[in-house]
Amino acid sequence: MTSTSAGFASVTGLHHVTAIAGEPNRSVAFYTRLLGLRLVKRTVNFDDPTAYHLYFGNETGAPGTLLTFFYWGNDHADARGRIGAGAVAALTLSIPRGSRTFWQDRLAAAGVATRTGDRFGEPLLSFSDPDRIPIELAESVDDRRPWNGTDVPETYAITGLHAAPLLVRKAEATEAMLDAGLGMTRIAAEPGRTRWAAGAARPGNMVEVLVAGAHAPEATVGIGTVHHVALRALDGDAQEGLRNRLQSGGHAVSPLRDRQYFRSIYFREPGGVLGEIATDGPGFAVDECPSRLGTSLRLPPQFEAQRDQIIAALPPLILGA
Ligand code: ZN
Repeated sequence: MTSTSAGFASVTGLHHVTAIAGEPNRSVAFYTRLLGLRLVKRTVNFDDPTAYHLYFGNETGAPGTLLTFFYWGNDHADARGRIGAGAVAALTLSIPRGSRTFWQDRLAAAGVATRTGDRFGEPLLSFSDPDRIPIELAESVDDRRPWNGTDVPETYAITGLHAAPLLVRKAEATEAMLDAGLGMTRIAAEPGRTRWAAGAARPGNMVEVLVAGAHAPEATVGIGTVHHVALRALDGDAQEGLRNRLQSGGHAVSPLRDRQYFRSIYFREPGGVLGEIATDGPGFAVDECPSRLGTSLRLPPQFEAQRDQIIAALPPLILGA
């Protein structure tokens, strides 16, 4: 199976968070033109190639900067999901210290209503995307370089994921998995919420356990919700070590899946949230020149023979990168 040392592997941070949206063009416009992220990959859902899977991140699409979306088409009521117990509660992104006012003004000018708050001493700005997916911008000290290919000044730009808030009915079993199964460390607590870090306690490395209460409604999957959160494993050996660690704790783990840009295994944490452990490599330059990321549809080898039919079934993306 694997070496003893791999058995002590820990996750090293957040890799990506994946949400479900309706129509792709308004989502692309929102995340690139308004929020200033880079569309780093234009591909299809490998489990359903009739739908886009789009990735947004920093210049290279580095692990920890990635938001990804599945697109379910028209936003009719029965396609909508509900954020509840067993879901990631929001897309929480990191912005530089002192930049909240910039984002308040920019979002207001675009007609997006915002609310201010505070979490673990950090100023927070909350709003929703066009599919009503909750978004939070958290001010923090973050040395990651943002994408600078937009009109958002670099001093204010989103630097990547901040934390992933897991909404669960009870904290204990989820926290036990973060600790014993994934090797994370509890670093802070507020009423109803604990914060955990993978390695160094910094933006992009954190998960939060948010207690919804015993009677909270259960999450349902659909447009407007977060589908899963992916954590980082440095490489395949570390990932295999994490698989062993989870399985020895009694948790079921999926077979290894090749996601073209990373390799993944999936599990469900005890509170119901779907989790993934994704390798850092090979990354988004594996099938596209780094300067042209996201500018054309990329398909994994198993779908190349059907390229014409796949393109015919997809709505055209109006925007460039
Ligand atoms: Zn994923």
